[in-house]
Amino acid sequence: MTSVCCYHAATGVTITGFNSDNNSGTMWDIWNSDGLQQMRREMAESGYQNICFNSRDTQCYEHITEMTPFRLLSSAQMKNFKKTNKNFQDKKIIVDNYPSFIQIFLDYKCNLNCPHCFQFVGRNSSVDYGLDIVNKPDFYEFLSNAETLNILGGEATLLKSYDKIIEHKKTLPDLNVLLTTNGCFLDKKVIPNLDCITEMVISVDGVTPEVYSDMRPSPSGKYDFEHLCNQLELYKEASKNYRTHTALSFTVCSKNYTQMPDFVNFAAKYNIPQINVYEIAEMNYDWLSLKDQMKLAVYQADTQRLRELAEETVARGRAVGVKACVKLRSIDFFDTEG
Ligand code: SF4
Repeated sequence: MTSVCCYHAATGVTITGFNSDNNSGTMWDIWNSDGLQQMRREMAESGYQNICFNSRDTQCYEHITEMTPFRLLSSAQMKNFKKTNKNFQDKKIIVDNYPSFIQIFLDYKCNLNCPHCFQFVGRNSSVDYGLDIVNKPDFYEFLSNAETLNILGGEATLLKSYDKIIEHKKTLPDLNVLLTTNGCFLDKKVIPNLDCITEMVISVDGVTPEVYSDMRPSPSGKYDFEHLCNQLELYKEASKNYRTHTALSFTVCSKNYTQMPDFVNFAAKYNIPQINVYEIAEMNYDWLSLKDQMKLAVYQADTQRLRELAEETVARGRAVGVKACVKLRSIDFFDTEG
């Protein structure tokens, strides 16, 4: 069943120390906030496809087109779907349907310090801002009617708010849970809860110790490449008994783009059936040092090589049974087959 529109069905509930004002009040207050009303008004006036569906590289687009047609909805989800559909046709600005896709950046707290990460505000804060969301009196009501909850951080698995969501999920068998993680805490926070996680993306970025530590530095020194490989080894064993769809994610830049085809072998080694390769070049990383900006952007001059590597990555994926989703905007390369 496909939701009528990803934005009408989504709430980008974003919580950080800097914009917690966006998240005050109840879930209903957030869902019908001035910002979301304005967005619905623009969509009703200008056509929703002008706002989101022409963007081929967004995660929600992918989920709407690839995942949702295969879902069976519970009666509560179906009832909400019908209400959403009607409100959408009626161009309602203040809605009484629940969002079917709830996306929450719980908090930006993280154990790593990736130079390309835009979530650096409050990374070392001791406050778990995600609790402001999950403790709302109507949070469970929203989860009970949603189709999908997308959990993002920071590193979400570090947080008590993540633990609380997992507890909720145990009573909501029809809710799809998507998790993005850096993979450092698979043994303690993911493997014991695999029956609660429908899809998972593990961000890796580098498949040698040098490149990994350059892309994903660990300030404490504890979470190096060896630690990640150990976690993936444990996950490989545990995941045999579960159906969590898992992908490894790689952000490419000048530090790691020549490793692109090897990303496939790395995934295959751990029985992971998919890799997602993106680039960061078009984003404005103005907080990076000039040196890091050069490192991140310089590979774009090598477009011929970049295209060859992208093609080789997809071909290698096909050969070994790993779906390679490679989306490189700078050379207009979008391949999601495998
Ligand atoms: S692991 Fe993710 S959230 Fe943490 S610093 Fe790296 S990119 Fe940012």
